Amino acid sequence: MSKTAQSVWENCLLFIKDNIQPQAFKTWFLPIVAVKLTDNALSIQVPSKFFYEWLEEHYVKILKVALTKELGENARLVYVIKMENTYGNKKPFTEKIPSANRQGAIKSQDVDVAIRHKDPELKNPFIIPGIRNLKIESQLNPTYNFENFLEGDSNRLARSAGVAVANKPGGTSFNPLLIFGGVGLGKTHLAHAIGVQIKDKYPEKTVLYIPAEKFAQQYIESVRKNTRNDFIHFYQILDVLILDDVQFLSGKAGTQDVFFHIFNHLHQNGKQVILTSDKAPVDLQDIEQRLLSRLKWGLSAELMPPDFDTRVSILQNKLYRDGVEMPNDIVEYIAKNIKTNIRELEGAIISLIAQSSFNRREITIDLARQIVEKFVKHTKREVSIDYIQKIVSDYFQMDVDTLQSKTRRRHIVQARQLAMFFAKKYTKTSLASIGSQIGDRDHATVLHACKTVENLTATDKQFRKYVDDLTNKFSG
Ligand code: ADP
Ligand code: MG
Repeated sequence: MSKTAQSVWENCLLFIKDNIQPQAFKTWFLPIVAVKLTDNALSIQVPSKFFYEWLEEHYVKILKVALTKELGENARLVYVIKMENTYGNKKPFTEKIPSANRQGAIKSQDVDVAIRHKDPELKNPFIIPGIRNLKIESQLNPTYNFENFLEGDSNRLARSAGVAVANKPGGTSFNPLLIFGGVGLGKTHLAHAIGVQIKDKYPEKTVLYIPAEKFAQQYIESVRKNTRNDFIHFYQILDVLILDDVQFLSGKAGTQDVFFHIFNHLHQNGKQVILTSDKAPVDLQDIEQRLLSRLKWGLSAELMPPDFDTRVSILQNKLYRDGVEMPNDIVEYIAKNIKTNIRELEGAIISLIAQSSFNRREITIDLARQIVEKFVKHTKREVSIDYIQKIVSDYFQMDVDTLQSKTRRRHIVQARQLAMFFAKKYTKTSLASIGSQIGDRDHATVLHACKTVENLTATDKQFRKYVDDLTNKFSG
């Protein structure tokens, strides 16, 4: 019976299967397709250049033994790299590379492989060249742990997914775990906490935390220095990779590509990947589709802005840890006014403490107000309906009770209608709720008020001046 590429390869597989780990066999040999046999050269098709590099690096010996058994001393192996077809109907790109261990002219690529065989030591991108140290530092910040990551409705899902992953890295279906949410909501803290707990429970596991921006820099550096393979291999030996702020990879095709390979490798080998992003996967711009679809494999857990009670607990916890006492009404004042960013929440309390100790001032609501204002000013102030009513009644030199009263006196009615108009313009409150807050009116009254203001603005010069003046007060 004459040999075919398939029959030769099947025999090789039988031999290889007996000699390596089942998981490795599945990952690295099952995807291979034998495509051609000429004399004593077998061509095998592999899915990527990276795949070829990996085989050459780790399995070249066993491949040689298997092939020699089948085809004799002069056996040769040729890799056909068939790139994944990612862009619609463009033809897949193929490249043929002879295996480095065969006889024949050595190409530059082979030289690279051969050198690495002699010196298989990994280059650690975190280590200054010249200093040999293969122990990988986790780059974790132990002050970011679960204990001081307070739980609330806004983070419960993400936090418990994080705990699950930390207890069983690589062993849950949350792989990758993608934590996403707005600025200052605890993504970095939670990502560290997972890593810290894994190190605690499994000291032998190699964990690495790295901001995506730094990852990208390291990658570019490795390309420049011709150490791309070292870079890849460094990341592939990790047990847990935590990549913070993946949105930084937007538009960086090369880095995305290398991350894609690293990710696949880790995932296939049951290693844990944890990612954070300030955007939901669907909103990530310029991230390649095949990478995006990988991100959707695991779990996307959102961190939302904390509710009032959680904000209060976070502040109290911080004060407690810093050994500072502060009256409750001040803590609540801060929690009430800084809503969308926990970093700012902490920042406000730190400057409050600093202000009071530098200037030997008592911590008062007044001081708190000044500080909160500084924090809230550059973000856009959320105008409250109370504030609107206050500004409008001040402008017309009446008090808020008068503005809300049932009277039909024209200038009071107009003031009330203006308050309703601005409430609709500057808040997200429903018409019904605006009505109930401004003199207990119904939503039709509010709607009517808004239309009246628009009509009068267009027809009445004096009235338009009211609107302009008030608009300036709200945006000033
Ligand atoms: P992000 O990475 O989402 O921008 P960080 O993780 O840097 O946010 O969090 C900002 C600050 O808020 C950090 O000091 C962090 O410790 C704190 N923080 C965030 N979430 C919590 C929480 N649930 N409990 C306690 N502190 C928190
Ligand atoms: Mg962060």
